[in-house]
Amino acid sequence: MSSVWPDGKRCAVCFTFDLDAEYVFMGNMPEVADMPRVISQGDYVWRAGIIPRILDLLDEHRIKSTWFVVAMNAVNHHEEVAEIVKRGHDVATHGWVHEKITDLSKEGETERLLKCVQAIEDATGYRPVGNRTAGGELSPNTLDILAENGFIYDSSLRGSDTPYTLPNGLVEVPSYYEMDDFHIFADYPFGNYKARMLSPETGYEIWTNAFDGYYRYGLCWTSMFHPQIIGKPGNIMLLERTINYMKRFPESGSPTPGW
Ligand SMILES: [Zn+2]
Repeated sequence: MSSVWPDGKRCAVCFTFDLDAEYVFMGNMPEVADMPRVISQGDYVWRAGIIPRILDLLDEHRIKSTWFVVAMNAVNHHEEVAEIVKRGHDVATHGWVHEKITDLSKEGETERLLKCVQAIEDATGYRPVGNRTAGGELSPNTLDILAENGFIYDSSLRGSDTPYTLPNGLVEVPSYYEMDDFHIFADYPFGNYKARMLSPETGYEIWTNAFDGYYRYGLCWTSMFHPQIIGKPGNIMLLERTINYMKRFPESGSPTPGW
């Protein structure tokens, strides 16, 4: 079985970041706007310089990544978001305020998506061609709206271990719950969100163990990290350890056939 990746590379790794900041809950829970302590966990991203912290680490390892940006963050923090593009990374859409879209008509959802595209383009000079749906499920129209509006890829589904082409021609780059730092480290004890706070060793074990499998079978390991979680001082060390773990493996070679 030969590798499907360019230049005989053994597998793919996509570092992707969902730039939610305070909208992670506010999109669907407007009352969060009156919760200063919760909101400050979004402010943290901007005040503590989390985006440059992550970009510096990626630069050190010569890694390019994708950032799914809640459009209001591009409006409110255009310099920080523009910096992501200036340093060679991809930006993509992730809702206007991380809102639920399933109640919108096709026209309403299209209008919303184009508004997000415009806001990100205004901030960065780059017109996004990728999307990860925020705040819940996709609507029955989401994938067609993306294809009809010049998008090349989506990263909202979970349907394989590697990118696949949808019937409408859109490429799906599946994202995975086990590579979501929120599920491992976030502690937001309100609403119906179940709080958890596991050891960094648990994150390391999950992500590197997953990598072993993706590497073995020549698949695509994709992270779904959140700057306010993975950018914390301890967690960014974990990210660096994870990158260093991956770099120990030879880049090229044929994957082992599956069972
Ligand atoms: Zn998100």
